[in-house]
Amino acid sequence: MTERLHLRDSYLLEFDARVLACRAHGGSPAVVLDRTAFYPESGGQPWDTGTLGEASVVAVVEQDGNVLHVLDRPLAEGPVRGRVDGARRRAHRQQHHGQHLLSQAFVEVAAARTVGFHLGAETTTIDLDRTVNAEQIDAAEARANEVAWEARPVSVKVVSVDEARGLGVAVPEGVDEDVRLVEAEGFDLQPCGGTHPRTTAEVGVVVVTAAERYKGGTRVSFVCGHRALHAVTRRRHVLDRLTSVLSSPLEGLADVAQKTRDDLSASERRARGLLERALEGEARRLLDLARGTTAPRGAEPSIVVAAYDGWSANELRVLAQRLVALSPCVALLGSRAEKAHLVFAQTEGLPHDVPALLREAVGHLGGRGGGRGDLAQGGGDRPELLDEALERAADAVRARS
Ligand SMILES: [Zn+2]
Repeated sequence: MTERLHLRDSYLLEFDARVLACRAHGGSPAVVLDRTAFYPESGGQPWDTGTLGEASVVAVVEQDGNVLHVLDRPLAEGPVRGRVDGARRRAHRQQHHGQHLLSQAFVEVAAARTVGFHLGAETTTIDLDRTVNAEQIDAAEARANEVAWEARPVSVKVVSVDEARGLGVAVPEGVDEDVRLVEAEGFDLQPCGGTHPRTTAEVGVVVVTAAERYKGGTRVSFVCGHRALHAVTRRRHVLDRLTSVLSSPLEGLADVAQKTRDDLSASERRARGLLERALEGEARRLLDLARGTTAPRGAEPSIVVAAYDGWSANELRVLAQRLVALSPCVALLGSRAEKAHLVFAQTEGLPHDVPALLREAVGHLGGRGGGRGDLAQGGGDRPELLDEALERAADAVRARS
């Protein structure tokens, strides 16, 4: 069994040890030491990184009571010097102890117990066994910070299960080994194997960044210490851009953003109404034009051919639907944008095979498309051939009319 130096001293970053065994883990070399200060992933806290001799430690996992150090290169058996990445260790101490404080604060403020914990690369989450509201979150956050700023001593002790239960600690049934307890003096007492600071002050600040409903309770995301500083800086950069884009001071930002959205919705509604009227007018204009050139008013079905610049396939379709509804006709519509769009339609009862006409035309444009019955649409990558494709389709319709 590897002796775990981090359990006694969570500030120990350098140590001498012996490589007892060389193994492999997930295709990488790995070693077991007689003693280690590297924390293996467990209890929601990620592993430490650092170096063993010349090798980088890329992962640390528990295996059969031993601590397995996964390396970027093999290491021979014998003595070795270990160095733990101090910045990462400090970040984990801050987040993990901040979690203890915040969890206990939620017990005090909302009688909400923590049933899940995950220390992530950017944020840390706890899962509470009940839903909490915004005021309770603010109150728990304030309480956790108050305890952090009181710089209460944090201590670790190892006691028997009976002693732990005597101290009011909930030890799960079936546990018979000694229990490691982490205490924030006068505030929180938890069984925990993680790395913790000497006092609550090292947590710095606890900042809740998000809360969402999760499995009947609440998942609370937060950051502590150094990560809280980063989170605030990131948000400041976002807010600086928003205040500039929306030309509003920070205090009025939300109102200005809301008004901008409302104005946009109103504009979109108005634009939709205007577009409908414009398409109706365009449909009548095209039909007049087609009747003038192809057939006397009210006689043969018209053939309407039109090409536009920059229209969407959706706009073409709406126009085609207006056309075939207004008067018996075959509508052959196209648009040149980055690609070419085509929409073909005919008034119900007319005899043309619209999908076949369309397939032929989009084939000419180097693309694909389809449809059924009286409406078909598609597109191709050669918009420069659009007029030609439309003219060919019109010829095919005239030949059958
Ligand atoms: Zn813990």
